[in-house]
Amino acid sequence: RMSAKRAAAMLSGTRVAVGTVPSYTRAQSTTASSQTRNPGEKERVVILGSGWAGYGLAQTIKPSKASRVLISPRSHFVFTPLLASTTVGTLEFRASIEPVRRLGLDEFHQAWASDIDFANKTIRLEANTMSDTAGSKTSTLKGPEKGPEFDITYDKLVIAVGCYSQTFGTEGVAQYANFLRDVGDARAIRLKVLTAFEKADLPSTTDAQRGELLNFAIVGGGPTGIEFAAELHDLVHEDLAKLYPSLVPFVRVTVYDIAPKVLPMFDQTLASYAMDLFKRQGIQVKTEHSLQSIRRDGDILRLRIKGQDAEVGAGLLVWSTGLMQNPLVAGLLRQDIPGFGRIVEDARTGGITTDGRMRVLAQQAPGGPRVPLPDVYAIGDCTVQEEHRLPATAQVASQQATWLGKRINSGDADGEGEFKFRNWGAMAYLGSKRAIHQHGADGLKGWPAWILWRTAYLTKSMSWRNKLKIPAQWLITALFGRDISRF
Ligand code: FAD
Repeated sequence: RMSAKRAAAMLSGTRVAVGTVPSYTRAQSTTASSQTRNPGEKERVVILGSGWAGYGLAQTIKPSKASRVLISPRSHFVFTPLLASTTVGTLEFRASIEPVRRLGLDEFHQAWASDIDFANKTIRLEANTMSDTAGSKTSTLKGPEKGPEFDITYDKLVIAVGCYSQTFGTEGVAQYANFLRDVGDARAIRLKVLTAFEKADLPSTTDAQRGELLNFAIVGGGPTGIEFAAELHDLVHEDLAKLYPSLVPFVRVTVYDIAPKVLPMFDQTLASYAMDLFKRQGIQVKTEHSLQSIRRDGDILRLRIKGQDAEVGAGLLVWSTGLMQNPLVAGLLRQDIPGFGRIVEDARTGGITTDGRMRVLAQQAPGGPRVPLPDVYAIGDCTVQEEHRLPATAQVASQQATWLGKRINSGDADGEGEFKFRNWGAMAYLGSKRAIHQHGADGLKGWPAWILWRTAYLTKSMSWRNKLKIPAQWLITALFGRDISRF
Protein backbone atom coordinates (compact mmCIF):
# COMPACT_ATOMS: atom_id res chain seq x y z
CA ARG A 1 0.00 0.00 0.00
CA MET A 2 1.37 3.42 -0.96
CA SER A 3 2.09 5.84 1.91
CA ALA A 4 0.04 9.04 2.05
CA LYS A 5 3.23 11.08 1.65
CA ARG A 6 4.24 9.24 -1.50
CA ALA A 7 0.76 9.48 -2.88
CA ALA A 8 0.73 13.24 -2.23
CA ALA A 9 4.04 13.61 -4.02
CA MET A 10 2.66 11.56 -6.88
CA LEU A 11 -0.45 13.73 -7.07
CA SER A 12 1.43 17.01 -7.00
CA GLY A 13 3.75 15.81 -9.73
CA THR A 14 0.94 14.85 -12.04
CA ARG A 15 0.43 16.77 -15.26
CA VAL A 16 -3.00 17.97 -16.20
CA ALA A 17 -4.80 15.63 -18.55
CA VAL A 18 -6.61 17.73 -21.08
CA GLY A 19 -7.96 14.89 -23.21
CA THR A 20 -11.06 15.97 -25.04
CA VAL A 21 -11.66 19.29 -23.31
CA PRO A 22 -12.50 22.27 -25.53
CA SER A 23 -9.56 24.27 -26.77
CA TYR A 24 -10.05 27.28 -24.52
CA THR A 25 -10.05 24.96 -21.50
CA ARG A 26 -6.94 23.27 -22.79
CA ALA A 27 -5.17 26.61 -22.92
CA GLN A 28 -6.27 27.38 -19.37
CA SER A 29 -5.29 23.94 -18.18
CA THR A 30 -1.72 24.24 -19.30
CA THR A 31 -1.20 27.77 -18.04
CA ALA A 32 -3.12 27.33 -14.84
CA SER A 33 -1.80 24.15 -13.33
CA SER A 34 0.62 24.57 -10.46
CA GLN A 35 3.34 22.70 -12.34
CA THR A 36 3.38 25.16 -15.22
CA ARG A 37 2.83 28.37 -13.26
CA ASN A 38 5.38 31.02 -14.03
CA PRO A 39 7.26 32.48 -11.07
CA GLY A 40 5.00 35.09 -9.47
CA GLU A 41 1.90 33.74 -11.20
CA LYS A 42 -1.02 33.49 -8.84
CA GLU A 43 -2.37 30.21 -7.59
CA ARG A 44 -5.67 29.20 -9.14
CA VAL A 45 -8.26 28.65 -6.41
CA VAL A 46 -11.45 27.04 -7.69
CA ILE A 47 -14.51 27.40 -5.45
CA LEU A 48 -17.58 25.22 -6.03
CA GLY A 49 -20.78 26.97 -4.88
CA SER A 50 -21.99 30.54 -4.43
CA GLY A 51 -23.73 30.15 -1.07
CA TRP A 52 -22.66 31.44 2.33
CA ALA A 53 -19.49 29.39 2.19
CA GLY A 54 -18.44 29.79 -1.48
CA TYR A 55 -19.46 33.42 -1.94
CA GLY A 56 -17.96 34.37 1.44
CA LEU A 57 -14.69 32.72 0.50
CA ALA A 58 -14.51 34.38 -2.93
CA GLN A 59 -15.17 37.70 -1.21
CA THR A 60 -12.42 37.15 1.38
CA ILE A 61 -9.63 35.97 -0.94
CA LYS A 62 -7.72 39.01 -2.11
CA PRO A 63 -7.45 39.24 -5.92
CA SER A 64 -3.75 40.05 -5.46
CA LYS A 65 -3.17 36.76 -3.59
CA ALA A 66 -4.88 34.18 -5.79
CA SER A 67 -6.73 33.77 -9.02
CA ARG A 68 -10.39 33.28 -7.97
CA VAL A 69 -12.53 30.93 -10.06
CA LEU A 70 -16.13 30.42 -8.98
CA ILE A 71 -18.41 27.65 -10.24
CA SER A 72 -22.10 27.65 -9.40
CA PRO A 73 -25.31 26.75 -11.21
CA ARG A 74 -26.72 30.07 -10.04
CA SER A 75 -25.23 33.45 -10.77
CA HIS A 76 -26.11 34.90 -7.40
CA PHE A 77 -25.69 34.53 -3.65
CA VAL A 78 -28.84 34.34 -1.50
CA PHE A 79 -29.02 35.94 1.92
CA THR A 80 -31.15 33.06 3.26
CA PRO A 81 -32.23 34.61 6.61
CA LEU A 82 -34.23 37.22 4.66
CA LEU A 83 -35.76 34.76 2.18
CA ALA A 84 -38.97 34.20 4.17
CA SER A 85 -39.60 37.99 4.09
CA THR A 86 -39.48 37.93 0.29
CA THR A 87 -42.15 35.22 0.04
CA VAL A 88 -44.76 37.74 1.16
CA GLY A 89 -43.27 41.01 -0.08
CA THR A 90 -42.02 42.46 3.22
CA LEU A 91 -38.84 42.68 1.16
CA GLU A 92 -38.42 42.38 -2.60
CA PHE A 93 -36.47 39.40 -3.99
CA ARG A 94 -33.51 41.40 -5.23
CA ALA A 95 -32.82 42.79 -1.77
CA SER A 96 -31.87 39.27 -0.68
CA ILE A 97 -29.41 38.42 -3.46
CA GLU A 98 -26.00 39.51 -4.69
CA PRO A 99 -24.78 38.85 -8.25
CA VAL A 100 -21.53 36.89 -8.10
CA ARG A 101 -19.95 38.72 -11.01
CA ARG A 102 -19.79 41.86 -8.89
CA LEU A 103 -16.99 40.15 -6.96
CA GLY A 104 -14.68 40.87 -9.90
CA LEU A 105 -13.71 37.21 -10.19
CA ASP A 106 -10.99 35.96 -12.49
CA GLU A 107 -13.48 33.42 -13.85
CA PHE A 108 -17.08 32.48 -13.26
CA HIS A 109 -18.87 29.58 -14.92
CA GLN A 110 -22.60 29.10 -14.38
CA ALA A 111 -22.42 25.34 -14.14
CA TRP A 112 -22.68 22.30 -11.92
CA ALA A 113 -19.50 20.48 -11.01
CA SER A 114 -20.38 16.90 -11.88
CA ASP A 115 -17.10 15.08 -11.25
CA ILE A 116 -13.64 15.73 -9.85
CA ASP A 117 -10.43 14.01 -10.90
CA PHE A 118 -8.22 14.62 -7.86
CA ALA A 119 -5.18 12.97 -9.42
CA ASN A 120 -5.22 15.35 -12.39
CA LYS A 121 -6.66 18.33 -10.49
CA THR A 122 -9.45 18.59 -13.04
CA ILE A 123 -13.16 19.27 -12.56
CA ARG A 124 -15.86 18.30 -15.01
CA LEU A 125 -18.56 20.95 -15.35
CA GLU A 126 -22.01 20.87 -16.85
CA ALA A 127 -23.26 24.33 -17.87
CA ASN A 128 -26.60 25.50 -16.50
CA THR A 129 -28.30 26.62 -19.67
CA MET A 130 -31.62 27.29 -17.93
CA SER A 131 -32.43 30.51 -16.11
CA ASP A 132 -31.12 31.01 -12.58
CA THR A 133 -34.45 30.06 -11.08
CA ALA A 134 -35.59 27.43 -13.56
CA GLY A 135 -33.83 24.60 -11.79
CA SER A 136 -34.27 25.86 -8.28
CA LYS A 137 -37.00 23.71 -6.82
CA THR A 138 -34.59 22.66 -4.12
CA SER A 139 -32.19 25.43 -5.06
CA THR A 140 -29.91 23.33 -7.21
CA LEU A 141 -31.86 20.48 -8.80
CA LYS A 142 -30.98 20.04 -12.42
CA GLY A 143 -33.71 20.28 -14.99
CA PRO A 144 -34.26 17.86 -17.87
CA GLU A 145 -32.13 19.93 -20.22
CA LYS A 146 -28.45 18.95 -20.18
CA GLY A 147 -25.98 21.74 -20.81
CA PRO A 148 -22.60 21.44 -22.55
CA GLU A 149 -19.82 19.81 -20.54
CA PHE A 150 -16.24 21.01 -20.19
CA ASP A 151 -13.26 20.62 -17.84
CA ILE A 152 -11.30 23.12 -15.79
CA THR A 153 -8.23 22.72 -13.62
CA TYR A 154 -7.32 23.92 -10.14
CA ASP A 155 -4.29 24.45 -7.95
CA LYS A 156 -6.46 24.55 -4.85
CA LEU A 157 -10.05 23.36 -4.72
CA VAL A 158 -12.72 24.36 -2.19
CA ILE A 159 -15.93 22.33 -2.18
CA ALA A 160 -18.82 24.44 -0.87
CA VAL A 161 -21.84 22.98 -2.64
CA GLY A 162 -24.23 22.93 0.34
CA CYS A 163 -27.10 20.46 0.68
CA TYR A 164 -30.44 19.69 -0.97
CA SER A 165 -33.82 19.56 0.74
CA GLN A 166 -34.64 16.24 2.35
CA THR A 167 -38.01 14.79 1.38
CA PHE A 168 -37.58 11.40 3.13
CA GLY A 169 -39.12 9.93 0.00
CA THR A 170 -42.56 11.16 1.09
CA GLU A 171 -44.99 10.56 -1.74
CA GLY A 172 -45.86 13.67 -3.74
CA VAL A 173 -43.51 16.06 -1.92
CA ALA A 174 -41.02 16.54 -4.75
CA GLN A 175 -43.88 17.17 -7.23
CA TYR A 176 -46.35 19.25 -5.23
CA ALA A 177 -44.68 20.85 -2.22
CA ASN A 178 -42.90 24.19 -2.35
CA PHE A 179 -39.38 24.42 -0.93
CA LEU A 180 -37.74 27.55 0.40
CA ARG A 181 -34.05 27.64 -0.42
CA ASP A 182 -33.63 30.18 -3.21
CA VAL A 183 -35.32 33.26 -4.67
CA GLY A 184 -37.05 31.16 -7.32
CA ASP A 185 -38.69 29.20 -4.51
CA ALA A 186 -39.74 32.42 -2.74
CA ARG A 187 -41.24 33.80 -5.94
CA ALA A 188 -43.24 30.59 -6.54
CA ILE A 189 -44.63 30.68 -2.99
CA ARG A 190 -45.62 34.35 -3.25
CA LEU A 191 -47.46 33.71 -6.50
CA LYS A 192 -49.33 30.73 -5.05
CA VAL A 193 -50.47 32.61 -1.94
CA LEU A 194 -51.75 35.61 -3.90
CA THR A 195 -53.36 33.39 -6.54
CA ALA A 196 -55.15 31.39 -3.82
CA PHE A 197 -56.75 34.60 -2.52
CA GLU A 198 -57.85 35.67 -5.99
CA LYS A 199 -59.37 32.24 -6.73
CA ALA A 200 -61.05 32.11 -3.32
CA ASP A 201 -62.68 35.49 -4.04
CA LEU A 202 -64.40 34.30 -7.22
CA PRO A 203 -68.21 34.13 -6.93
CA SER A 204 -68.06 30.62 -8.38
CA THR A 205 -65.92 29.34 -5.46
CA THR A 206 -67.83 27.62 -2.66
CA ASP A 207 -67.10 28.25 1.03
CA ALA A 208 -65.77 24.70 1.39
CA GLN A 209 -63.33 25.36 -1.46
CA ARG A 210 -62.35 28.70 0.12
CA GLY A 211 -61.46 26.91 3.35
CA GLU A 212 -59.17 24.54 1.44
CA LEU A 213 -57.61 27.11 -0.90
CA LEU A 214 -56.76 29.35 2.04
CA ASN A 215 -55.36 26.59 4.23
CA PHE A 216 -51.61 27.10 4.13
CA ALA A 217 -49.64 24.13 5.47
CA ILE A 218 -46.02 24.13 6.53
CA VAL A 219 -44.13 20.94 7.28
CA GLY A 220 -41.14 21.49 9.59
CA GLY A 221 -41.02 23.47 12.82
CA GLY A 222 -37.45 24.73 12.56
CA PRO A 223 -36.69 28.46 12.18
CA THR A 224 -37.41 28.48 8.42
CA GLY A 225 -40.89 26.95 8.75
CA ILE A 226 -41.75 29.11 11.76
CA GLU A 227 -40.51 32.33 10.11
CA PHE A 228 -42.46 31.60 6.94
CA ALA A 229 -45.64 31.05 9.01
CA ALA A 230 -44.97 34.35 10.81
CA GLU A 231 -44.42 36.31 7.60
CA LEU A 232 -47.56 34.79 6.07
CA HIS A 233 -49.55 35.82 9.12
CA ASP A 234 -48.26 39.41 8.74
CA LEU A 235 -49.20 39.48 5.04
CA VAL A 236 -52.71 38.24 5.74
CA HIS A 237 -53.42 40.48 8.73
CA GLU A 238 -51.58 43.65 7.70
CA ASP A 239 -52.44 43.70 3.99
CA LEU A 240 -54.80 41.06 2.61
CA ALA A 241 -57.37 41.50 5.42
CA LYS A 242 -58.01 45.04 4.13
CA LEU A 243 -58.31 43.91 0.51
CA TYR A 244 -60.25 40.67 0.99
CA PRO A 245 -62.08 41.22 4.34
CA SER A 246 -64.67 38.52 3.63
CA LEU A 247 -61.96 35.89 3.16
CA VAL A 248 -60.16 36.33 6.49
CA PRO A 249 -62.36 33.81 8.37
CA PHE A 250 -61.33 31.13 5.87
CA VAL A 251 -57.57 31.57 6.33
CA ARG A 252 -55.65 28.93 8.29
CA VAL A 253 -51.91 28.64 8.76
CA THR A 254 -50.78 25.28 10.17
CA VAL A 255 -47.30 24.09 11.04
CA TYR A 256 -46.82 20.29 11.22
CA ASP A 257 -43.80 18.69 12.84
CA ILE A 258 -43.08 15.06 13.63
CA ALA A 259 -41.13 16.01 16.81
CA PRO A 260 -42.82 16.73 20.17
CA LYS A 261 -41.40 20.27 20.16
CA VAL A 262 -40.71 22.94 17.53
CA LEU A 263 -37.76 25.37 17.52
CA PRO A 264 -35.49 22.82 19.24
CA MET A 265 -32.48 25.18 19.34
CA PHE A 266 -34.27 27.58 21.70
CA ASP A 267 -34.72 27.03 25.43
CA GLN A 268 -38.11 26.16 26.89
CA THR A 269 -38.99 29.76 27.90
CA LEU A 270 -38.39 31.14 24.42
CA ALA A 271 -40.03 28.20 22.63
CA SER A 272 -43.11 28.55 24.90
CA TYR A 273 -43.22 32.29 24.25
CA ALA A 274 -43.20 31.54 20.52
CA MET A 275 -46.02 29.00 20.87
CA ASP A 276 -48.16 31.37 22.98
CA LEU A 277 -47.70 34.15 20.44
CA PHE A 278 -48.56 31.80 17.56
CA LYS A 279 -51.73 30.79 19.41
CA ARG A 280 -52.75 34.44 19.82
CA GLN A 281 -52.03 35.06 16.14
CA GLY A 282 -54.16 32.07 15.18
CA ILE A 283 -51.29 30.00 13.76
CA GLN A 284 -51.77 26.33 14.62
CA VAL A 285 -48.77 24.20 15.52
CA LYS A 286 -49.35 20.46 15.33
CA THR A 287 -46.43 18.56 16.82
CA GLU A 288 -46.10 14.78 16.58
CA HIS A 289 -47.89 14.92 13.24
CA SER A 290 -46.26 13.40 10.20
CA LEU A 291 -47.25 13.87 6.60
CA GLN A 292 -47.54 10.62 4.72
CA SER A 293 -48.39 11.75 1.21
CA ILE A 294 -49.62 14.63 -0.92
CA ARG A 295 -51.66 14.44 -4.07
CA ARG A 296 -53.05 17.14 -6.33
CA ASP A 297 -56.77 17.50 -6.91
CA GLY A 298 -57.28 20.48 -9.25
CA ASP A 299 -56.20 23.62 -7.34
CA ILE A 300 -56.15 21.79 -4.03
CA LEU A 301 -53.46 19.63 -2.46
CA ARG A 302 -54.75 16.64 -0.48
CA LEU A 303 -52.52 15.90 2.51
CA ARG A 304 -52.61 12.56 4.27
CA ILE A 305 -51.52 12.91 7.87
CA LYS A 306 -50.54 9.79 9.83
CA GLY A 307 -53.33 8.63 12.13
CA GLN A 308 -56.06 10.73 10.48
CA ASP A 309 -58.74 9.14 8.31
CA ALA A 310 -59.71 12.13 6.19
CA GLU A 311 -57.27 13.97 3.96
CA VAL A 312 -56.66 17.67 4.65
CA GLY A 313 -57.16 20.09 1.75
CA ALA A 314 -54.65 22.93 1.35
CA GLY A 315 -53.82 25.61 -1.21
CA LEU A 316 -50.08 25.47 -0.52
CA LEU A 317 -47.64 23.25 1.30
CA VAL A 318 -44.21 24.58 2.19
CA TRP A 319 -41.74 21.81 2.97
CA SER A 320 -38.89 22.71 5.28
CA THR A 321 -37.80 19.62 7.16
CA GLY A 322 -34.11 19.09 6.75
CA LEU A 323 -31.15 18.48 4.52
CA MET A 324 -29.85 15.71 2.34
CA GLN A 325 -26.45 15.41 0.73
CA ASN A 326 -25.72 17.14 -2.56
CA PRO A 327 -25.43 14.49 -5.34
CA LEU A 328 -21.92 15.72 -6.19
CA VAL A 329 -20.84 14.93 -2.64
CA ALA A 330 -22.56 11.54 -2.72
CA GLY A 331 -20.63 10.70 -5.92
CA LEU A 332 -17.28 11.92 -4.53
CA LEU A 333 -17.67 9.74 -1.44
CA ARG A 334 -17.94 6.65 -3.64
CA GLN A 335 -14.84 7.52 -5.65
CA ASP A 336 -11.53 5.64 -5.21
CA ILE A 337 -8.68 8.13 -5.18
CA PRO A 338 -5.32 6.55 -6.11
CA GLY A 339 -3.11 6.35 -3.04
CA PHE A 340 -5.71 7.81 -0.69
CA GLY A 341 -8.70 5.51 -0.74
CA ARG A 342 -12.01 7.25 -0.20
CA ILE A 343 -13.11 10.55 1.27
CA VAL A 344 -14.30 9.97 4.85
CA GLU A 345 -18.09 10.17 4.99
CA ASP A 346 -19.77 11.49 8.11
CA ALA A 347 -21.99 8.62 9.23
CA ARG A 348 -24.77 10.84 10.56
CA THR A 349 -25.16 13.39 7.75
CA GLY A 350 -23.45 11.76 4.78
CA GLY A 351 -21.25 14.88 4.57
CA ILE A 352 -17.55 15.28 3.77
CA THR A 353 -15.34 14.95 6.85
CA THR A 354 -12.68 17.63 7.23
CA ASP A 355 -10.02 18.29 9.80
CA GLY A 356 -9.90 21.51 11.81
CA ARG A 357 -8.11 23.23 8.91
CA MET A 358 -10.98 22.47 6.48
CA ARG A 359 -8.87 19.89 4.62
CA VAL A 360 -10.84 17.02 3.15
CA LEU A 361 -9.90 13.75 4.84
CA ALA A 362 -9.51 10.40 3.09
CA GLN A 363 -8.69 6.91 4.29
CA GLN A 364 -7.65 3.66 2.67
CA ALA A 365 -9.96 1.50 4.78
CA PRO A 366 -12.64 2.11 7.43
CA GLY A 367 -10.95 2.65 10.78
CA GLY A 368 -7.58 3.32 9.11
CA PRO A 369 -5.56 6.54 9.43
CA ARG A 370 -7.17 9.63 7.95
CA VAL A 371 -5.02 11.84 5.77
CA PRO A 372 -5.82 15.17 4.10
CA LEU A 373 -6.16 15.19 0.33
CA PRO A 374 -3.57 17.66 -0.95
CA ASP A 375 -5.00 21.06 -1.95
CA VAL A 376 -8.62 20.05 -1.40
CA TYR A 377 -10.76 21.84 1.19
CA ALA A 378 -14.46 21.78 2.01
CA ILE A 379 -16.61 24.24 3.96
CA GLY A 380 -20.26 24.92 4.77
CA ASP A 381 -23.31 22.65 4.96
CA CYS A 382 -21.76 19.85 2.87
CA THR A 383 -19.09 19.18 5.50
CA VAL A 384 -18.68 17.92 9.03
CA GLN A 385 -15.59 18.91 10.96
CA GLU A 386 -13.89 15.96 12.64
CA GLU A 387 -14.28 16.13 16.44
CA HIS A 388 -16.24 19.43 16.35
CA ARG A 389 -19.69 18.80 14.95
CA LEU A 390 -21.12 22.21 14.06
CA PRO A 391 -24.67 23.06 12.99
CA ALA A 392 -25.49 23.50 9.30
CA THR A 393 -25.99 27.26 9.47
CA ALA A 394 -24.98 30.39 7.62
CA GLN A 395 -23.04 31.47 10.71
CA VAL A 396 -20.79 28.42 10.51
CA ALA A 397 -20.44 28.54 6.71
CA SER A 398 -19.52 32.24 6.63
CA GLN A 399 -17.04 31.99 9.51
CA GLN A 400 -15.34 29.00 7.87
CA ALA A 401 -15.17 30.96 4.60
CA THR A 402 -13.56 33.96 6.24
CA TRP A 403 -11.10 31.77 8.16
CA LEU A 404 -10.01 29.77 5.10
CA GLY A 405 -9.91 32.89 2.90
CA LYS A 406 -7.52 34.62 5.29
CA ARG A 407 -5.27 31.56 5.38
CA ILE A 408 -5.16 31.43 1.59
CA ASN A 409 -4.28 35.14 1.60
CA SER A 410 -1.46 34.44 4.04
CA GLY A 411 0.04 31.96 1.57
CA ASP A 412 -0.04 29.15 4.14
CA ALA A 413 -3.46 27.55 3.88
CA ASP A 414 -2.26 24.35 5.56
CA GLY A 415 -0.32 26.03 8.39
CA GLU A 416 -0.74 25.34 12.10
CA GLY A 417 -3.92 26.45 13.91
CA GLU A 418 -7.50 25.25 13.79
CA PHE A 419 -10.81 26.93 13.01
CA LYS A 420 -12.79 27.97 16.08
CA PHE A 421 -16.49 28.72 15.75
CA ARG A 422 -17.88 31.77 17.55
CA ASN A 423 -21.56 31.26 18.25
CA TRP A 424 -23.53 34.47 17.82
CA GLY A 425 -26.73 32.78 18.96
CA ALA A 426 -29.97 31.83 17.23
CA MET A 427 -32.83 34.10 16.18
CA ALA A 428 -36.32 33.59 14.79
CA TYR A 429 -38.97 36.08 13.66
CA LEU A 430 -42.43 35.25 15.02
CA GLY A 431 -44.75 37.78 13.37
CA SER A 432 -46.41 41.00 14.64
CA LYS A 433 -42.95 42.60 15.12
CA ARG A 434 -41.90 40.02 17.70
CA ALA A 435 -38.88 37.69 17.67
CA ILE A 436 -36.75 35.50 19.93
CA HIS A 437 -33.01 35.46 20.35
CA GLN A 438 -30.98 32.83 22.21
CA HIS A 439 -27.36 33.40 23.09
CA GLY A 440 -25.92 30.74 25.39
CA ALA A 441 -28.12 30.71 28.49
CA ASP A 442 -29.41 34.24 27.73
CA GLY A 443 -32.67 34.84 25.95
CA LEU A 444 -34.36 37.91 24.54
CA LYS A 445 -37.94 37.98 23.31
CA GLY A 446 -40.63 40.23 21.90
CA TRP A 447 -40.15 43.63 20.34
CA PRO A 448 -36.49 44.20 21.44
CA ALA A 449 -35.56 40.84 19.90
CA TRP A 450 -37.28 41.90 16.66
CA ILE A 451 -35.18 45.11 16.56
CA LEU A 452 -32.07 42.98 17.14
CA TRP A 453 -33.19 40.55 14.40
CA ARG A 454 -33.55 43.34 11.85
CA THR A 455 -30.36 45.15 12.89
CA ALA A 456 -28.29 41.96 12.83
CA TYR A 457 -29.40 40.95 9.34
CA LEU A 458 -29.07 44.46 8.00
CA THR A 459 -25.50 44.75 9.20
CA LYS A 460 -24.64 41.25 7.94
CA SER A 461 -26.05 41.84 4.44
CA MET A 462 -23.23 41.77 1.92
CA SER A 463 -23.29 44.93 -0.22
CA TRP A 464 -23.91 48.61 0.42
CA ARG A 465 -26.54 48.47 -2.30
CA ASN A 466 -28.57 46.01 -0.18
CA LYS A 467 -27.71 47.71 3.10
CA LEU A 468 -29.57 50.75 1.68
CA LYS A 469 -32.25 48.83 -0.22
CA ILE A 470 -33.39 46.72 2.74
CA PRO A 471 -34.31 49.53 5.19
CA ALA A 472 -35.83 51.53 2.32
CA GLN A 473 -38.10 48.57 1.48
CA TRP A 474 -38.97 47.99 5.13
CA LEU A 475 -40.03 51.65 5.28
CA ILE A 476 -42.08 51.41 2.08
CA THR A 477 -43.82 48.29 3.41
CA ALA A 478 -44.56 50.00 6.74
CA LEU A 479 -45.97 53.10 5.02
CA PHE A 480 -47.81 51.65 2.01
CA GLY A 481 -48.16 47.92 2.68
CA ARG A 482 -46.74 44.98 0.73
CA ASP A 483 -46.82 44.79 -3.06
CA ILE A 484 -49.50 42.21 -3.82
CA SER A 485 -49.27 42.27 -7.60
CA ARG A 486 -48.86 38.85 -9.21
CA PHE A 487 -46.24 38.49 -11.90
P1 FAD B 1 -25.64 26.94 0.28
O1 FAD B 1 -25.91 28.30 0.79
O2 FAD B 1 -26.77 25.98 0.12
O3 FAD B 1 -24.89 27.12 -1.10
C1 FAD B 1 -24.53 26.03 -1.91
C2 FAD B 1 -24.09 26.58 -3.25
O4 FAD B 1 -23.55 25.52 -4.02
C3 FAD B 1 -25.23 27.16 -4.07
O5 FAD B 1 -24.79 28.32 -4.74
C4 FAD B 1 -25.55 26.07 -5.06
O6 FAD B 1 -26.15 26.58 -6.22
C5 FAD B 1 -24.14 25.54 -5.32
N1 FAD B 1 -24.06 24.17 -5.84
C6 FAD B 1 -24.87 23.12 -5.60
N2 FAD B 1 -24.47 22.05 -6.30
C7 FAD B 1 -23.37 22.42 -6.98
C8 FAD B 1 -22.48 21.76 -7.88
N3 FAD B 1 -22.65 20.47 -8.21
N4 FAD B 1 -21.46 22.47 -8.40
C9 FAD B 1 -21.27 23.77 -8.08
N5 FAD B 1 -22.07 24.45 -7.24
C10 FAD B 1 -23.10 23.78 -6.70
N6 FAD B 1 -28.58 29.96 8.88
C11 FAD B 1 -28.30 30.82 9.87
O7 FAD B 1 -27.21 30.76 10.45
N7 FAD B 1 -29.20 31.79 10.25
C12 FAD B 1 -30.40 31.93 9.63
O8 FAD B 1 -31.20 32.80 9.98
C13 FAD B 1 -30.72 31.06 8.56
N8 FAD B 1 -31.88 31.18 7.91
C14 FAD B 1 -32.15 30.37 6.85
C15 FAD B 1 -33.32 30.56 6.13
C16 FAD B 1 -33.62 29.76 5.03
C17 FAD B 1 -34.87 29.99 4.26
C18 FAD B 1 -32.70 28.74 4.66
C19 FAD B 1 -33.00 27.86 3.47
C20 FAD B 1 -31.55 28.53 5.37
C21 FAD B 1 -31.25 29.35 6.47
N9 FAD B 1 -30.06 29.19 7.20
C22 FAD B 1 -29.76 30.06 8.21
C23 FAD B 1 -29.12 28.12 6.84
C24 FAD B 1 -28.06 28.65 5.89
O9 FAD B 1 -28.65 29.31 4.80
C25 FAD B 1 -27.19 27.51 5.38
O10 FAD B 1 -26.58 26.89 6.46
C26 FAD B 1 -26.14 28.07 4.43
O11 FAD B 1 -26.78 28.52 3.26
C27 FAD B 1 -25.07 27.05 4.09
O12 FAD B 1 -24.19 27.65 3.22
P2 FAD B 1 -23.42 26.81 2.10
O13 FAD B 1 -22.63 27.79 1.31
O14 FAD B 1 -22.74 25.67 2.72
O15 FAD B 1 -24.58 26.19 1.19
